[in-house]
Amino acid sequence: MPFDTLGLTPALAQAAAASGFAAPTAIQAAAIPAILQGRDLRGSAQTGSGKTAAFSLPLLQRLTAQPASSASRRLRALVLVPTRELAAQVGETLEDFARHLPQRLKIVVAVGGVSINPQMMRLRGGADIVVATPGRLLDLVEHNALALDAVSMLVLDEADRLFDLGFAEELQRILALLPARRQNLLFSATFPIAIQALADDMLHDPALVDV
Ligand code: AMP
Repeated sequence: MPFDTLGLTPALAQAAAASGFAAPTAIQAAAIPAILQGRDLRGSAQTGSGKTAAFSLPLLQRLTAQPASSASRRLRALVLVPTRELAAQVGETLEDFARHLPQRLKIVVAVGGVSINPQMMRLRGGADIVVATPGRLLDLVEHNALALDAVSMLVLDEADRLFDLGFAEELQRILALLPARRQNLLFSATFPIAIQALADDMLHDPALVDV
């Protein structure tokens, strides 16, 4: 199966095949091995390039390779996105792939513009992965619905928009709550100079992928 050659486990290679993916896209071929090695990554990729699977498959593999920290799940992976629609899409992709894993992972999508209460209920007992917009994530932290101190993987999807003025302050507040030692994966359609500087500030020896 073509996805095995990237270092994915049979279960996740099977998950890609079940989604109808015959072969990895360019960004998947470049990003998946680097992410599996634990490297930070800065990827330039348009929507439609397959970037969601490029980070979702190796993220799931790395989480299932670590034992869950305790009986009450502590959040280990955080995916930040600028819009509700993107949050829903990324959440669905993660759920589709995660179904093929032997171990159950709890994935919670948390976005603004809807009542916070169902999201707080969903987060009772913890979660393994949260996909969120920045403002709602901070609200949930302030309500003690989740803590970010065990996050080992951070994804910024459409990072250029997350670094934009509308989100910049919230993003900095979130970054300050995360452990300093973590894997950072940044994806953006483009990295203009100003955004690249902000990105490079939070990346350590990143793999650079430009497709
Ligand atoms: P994205 O760039 O993540 O928004 O993905 C765009 C679309 O490409 C989605 O509908 C994916 O299901 C699809 N896709 C992602 N990876 C592959 C692949 N390796 N082969 C075929 N389709 C893919």
